[in-house]
Amino acid sequence: MTLHVQHHISDELLLDYASGTLAEGWSIAVATHLALCPSCRDRLSFMEHAGGELLETVDVDEPVSEAASWTSMMGKIAAEKDRPAVETPARVAASGEALIPEPLRSYLGSDVDGLKWRALGRGAYHIPIKTGDAESQVRLLKIPAGKPVPEHSHGGRELTLVLKGAFTDGSTVFRRGDLEEADETLTHQPVATPDEDCICLAVTDAPLKFKSLIVRLVQPVLGI
Ligand SMILES: [Zn+2]
Repeated sequence: MTLHVQHHISDELLLDYASGTLAEGWSIAVATHLALCPSCRDRLSFMEHAGGELLETVDVDEPVSEAASWTSMMGKIAAEKDRPAVETPARVAASGEALIPEPLRSYLGSDVDGLKWRALGRGAYHIPIKTGDAESQVRLLKIPAGKPVPEHSHGGRELTLVLKGAFTDGSTVFRRGDLEEADETLTHQPVATPDEDCICLAVTDAPLKFKSLIVRLVQPVLGI
């Protein structure tokens, strides 16, 4: 099966990940996208390479303008962007075929077929995923075919990675491997495509602010 990933990790997010400053919850979404996306793995290796070169050229005793370092690093990345992609076939074959690739798989346990879905209302289900960081909330979501997830806005960043099926948000379609990055400026309404249930990984940084009063009331009970 060949994936045609259309929606990738932003430069900003990938740099945070590459520099090790991204909290665990967000990193799970980034790393799971990387498992499904050779082109982002390639971008990551450029960044790591460019970051290493940057460190070698910087005199640590000299104060460095952050803006200048940033520009220099992005320049190197842009200059190398046309380099042919480096494939790692073993890793692609091992991780790309599984419905739930690593590292997400490790968080869910080995029995992927026996996942304990919890009802979320309106036919949707979720599985909260525990991580070591307190700033993000990670869960697997199952949205019934043709149905929306409860409408919400949020106080910060939200990452949604499709693992099975697809959803549309406005006129944009997100399929397996695609990552949607949303922030507080966006009230969005993902809707599963009508052909099959959509399973995705959702990472948010604040408890979701559902617009519906009823959903807001049951939020503490459901632990969402
Ligand atoms: Zn990608």
